[in-house]
Amino acid sequence: MHKFEKKVWLATPTMHGEEMKYVQQAYDTNWMSTVGENINEVERIAAEKAEMKYAVGLSCCTAALHLAVKHAGETLYGKPAISHGALEGKRVFCSDMTFDATLNPVVYEGGIPVFIDTEAESWNMDPVALEKAFEMYPDVKLVVSAELYGFPGRMDLIKEICEKHGALLIEDAAEAMGATIYGRQCGSFGDYSAVSYNGNKIITGSAGGCLLTNDIEVANKARKWSTQARENAPWYQHEEVGYNYRMSNVIAGVVRGQYPYLEEHIAQKKAIYERYKAGFKDLPVQMNPIMEGTEPNYWLSAMIIDKEYMCKQVRDDSKALYINEQGKTCPTEILETLASYNAEGRPIWKPMHMQPMYRMHEFVTRDGSGRCRTNAYIAGGCVDVGADIFERGLCLPSDNKMTAEEQEKVIEIVKSCFN
Ligand SMILES: *Cc1c(COP(=O)(O)O)cnc(C)c1O
Repeated sequence: MHKFEKKVWLATPTMHGEEMKYVQQAYDTNWMSTVGENINEVERIAAEKAEMKYAVGLSCCTAALHLAVKHAGETLYGKPAISHGALEGKRVFCSDMTFDATLNPVVYEGGIPVFIDTEAESWNMDPVALEKAFEMYPDVKLVVSAELYGFPGRMDLIKEICEKHGALLIEDAAEAMGATIYGRQCGSFGDYSAVSYNGNKIITGSAGGCLLTNDIEVANKARKWSTQARENAPWYQHEEVGYNYRMSNVIAGVVRGQYPYLEEHIAQKKAIYERYKAGFKDLPVQMNPIMEGTEPNYWLSAMIIDKEYMCKQVRDDSKALYINEQGKTCPTEILETLASYNAEGRPIWKPMHMQPMYRMHEFVTRDGSGRCRTNAYIAGGCVDVGADIFERGLCLPSDNKMTAEEQEKVIEIVKSCFN
């Protein structure tokens, strides 16, 4: 097989033309700022799409999560002193197998993330482990939970558990826009939710994000904070710390032009997932699980290799090595082979409890055993679902512009690794 002449990517932006119309409109009317019709329209569409009352357009999803975390912290624990975070010294239950932007804002506000293990059946936060965590730390009042790769778990159950324990829920739906759980949109489950228009997401503005809420007070506060927290006065008047987090009307033009194509992108991503699933049906691998009652947006197709077919692989903090074995393979071999053909895959998001900066943080598993001794989760006797999926899993090229022929070739390359 020859190398791909044109690189096959994990996920790249897909433009349609209408985006330029709205960008041009912003230019022609000189609304080249953080005010304008594009922002108003994005907020209207984002709220409608996510079935939430209000959306606040921001510079990115991380900013949305930050304002959510800050608001939740002030609601729960009161307004902090000026140079303190709103969660100073407070534990917050966080998704473990996610992109670090999910929980960075918890740390910005002085909170202490406690990581909740992943459920093998959904690859999302494990509701059983979350219950366990509330047993261990009944004082915790905030949960930050993300949907992984656009394949939702039981966010509905997680919301119920939060309510039972009087905790607030922040839903990070950055990867899951347009996915549903029992017919309800992802991004509608949190007391606060966030979506992303980052360049690799299902639709994009090149950057940008929205905070979603049903509470007008939250929306107003987020809008104020995101524009440097100016008070209503003729001069710059300040009673609290502000941020420069507002969405640009130019970026909003791109997002506005993308929203009509969300369903089309989902359909393309679904076709990619299904082609992989059919292509790998005779291989000892599993694709991202689809939970009963959920409809994913299929953003990234991923797979894990069955335990018995894993070749030996070791990873330190920056490198990976493996031993080639007949009939077996491992993520490192597959990723290196794909790269050698000019195709881009990626390891599964490395769980947060395995990250050096969180080495000393608590990690709650469903059996309550917490962190395993090195690799004990492979030998058995210790449940660490996240570490196991990270060990055996990888994200496949999932770009919606990948042709069926290109994808067939990717499938052949993956198959060849099992020889
Ligand atoms: C992409 C992503 C974010 C961050 O979104 P930005 O818009 O880039 O700030 C947050 N959480 C998850 C799960 C993501 O995948």
